[in-house]
Amino acid sequence: MKFVSTRGQTEPHSFTEAVKVGLAPDGGLFVPESLPDLSEELPSWKGKSYPELCHAFLRHFATDIDRDELKALIDDAYSHFDHKDHAPLVKLDEKISVLELFHGPTLAFKDFALQLLGKLYERQVAATGESINVLGATSGDTGAAAISGLLGKEGVDIFILYPDGRVSPLQERQMTCTEDPHVYPLSVTGSFDDAQAALKEVFGDKQFSGEVNLSAVNSINLARILAQCVYYLYAWLQLPDDAREKTTFVVPTGNFGNILSGWMASRMGMKVAGFRVATNRNDILDRFFSSGNYSVGDVAASLAPSMDIQVASNFERFLYYTFGQNSEKTRSVMAQLKDQNAFQADDRSVIRSMSSSRMDDAEIRETIKSVYQKYNYIVDPHTACGFKDLDALEHCLILSTAHPAKFPDVIEETLGLESTHPTLETLKTRAIVKHPLSPDVDSIKEFIASKQSSDQQ
Ligand SMILES: *Cc1c(COP(=O)(O)O)cnc(C)c1O
Repeated sequence: MKFVSTRGQTEPHSFTEAVKVGLAPDGGLFVPESLPDLSEELPSWKGKSYPELCHAFLRHFATDIDRDELKALIDDAYSHFDHKDHAPLVKLDEKISVLELFHGPTLAFKDFALQLLGKLYERQVAATGESINVLGATSGDTGAAAISGLLGKEGVDIFILYPDGRVSPLQERQMTCTEDPHVYPLSVTGSFDDAQAALKEVFGDKQFSGEVNLSAVNSINLARILAQCVYYLYAWLQLPDDAREKTTFVVPTGNFGNILSGWMASRMGMKVAGFRVATNRNDILDRFFSSGNYSVGDVAASLAPSMDIQVASNFERFLYYTFGQNSEKTRSVMAQLKDQNAFQADDRSVIRSMSSSRMDDAEIRETIKSVYQKYNYIVDPHTACGFKDLDALEHCLILSTAHPAKFPDVIEETLGLESTHPTLETLKTRAIVKHPLSPDVDSIKEFIASKQSSDQQ
């Protein structure tokens, strides 16, 4: 299997190469050359453990990694989860189930992809003998999950940009209290979108990124999207046969990486009723899926900070597929977006390919309360966004993207309960180490470069 760019101006890459570079050299995102049709094979995967299922699925893509080696990588990557099912499905009532994706080391769904990515990077450093510098931007959880996945991996330095003051205190501690000299949390002024834009520019400087062997951990990385397909399949396989096609996956969404994975799985044969994009007050995607209008507004801070995003980078992959894998059209729409910060889709079938909802902070608080009262179940502020407008859905599976203990203040204020988790408690005893920076290309490049020379001394 080879991987091509959404913008069509990059040579096909192997899995390992595409994972290594992250962003395609033409500025696009890597996608599989063609999506396999798994509809025949899928039912036979029922009953597999999470790592087994992951192996069965990834074998279709990571064709340049030896089968047994891939198995070992996956087993290792998923050995640090605190639930035997990895992604347990909790039934709240006949209509609503929750897929808990917060049993990894940093208590958010991003662990599923980043624990694996860490293993892939480690393999690469061992194979080439070249160290790599990983650069990412985070609205909170990616940074923590990336750091956890890459921590202590020989030959890997980690640089994570995050908007100063806009991630939760615990998220910040997860990034800054590692006590690891190869981890550089960079707190930047501005919003996540500013950080992400600067990051894209750093990657765009091919000379620089080549010189320092730069790699991306953001959800632009192909390995993350593919790794995330697995928990959709895992949940889907657990549903009774007759419930599968009636089920809508409801996904709290920011950068559009999580839901895109599910949607891609459906294009490979996982038949479902549909997908629901659940946004917070940063509702660009809700506006798109209700009117076709994609126009970038200002980012507003909300109770669900990991979704405080306006420019959803994975949207490009979605456009590419809905345009019938037309890279020329993708390129022109992306250019228009860059110029005008907006575009209008005219094709109703594109606009209707997912449903959407939006929740403001007051509704998030009310929802945390009502879900607790009704089901005696605590949801975090991101997951809460999934509980909006469920009337129209026959059966739904809400993805729970974070453990409530990551947002103890909101839980305490709304429910009067203390929400804690042992892994978070240990962090509170450690010192915070971070590097303030302005989110411009030059400062970031300078910072990364300065760490290279000191490494070599
Ligand atoms: C990252 C994150 C999201 C948003 O996921 P995307 O893939 O960016 O859409 C939602 N909830 C939590 C808790 C997250 O960490």
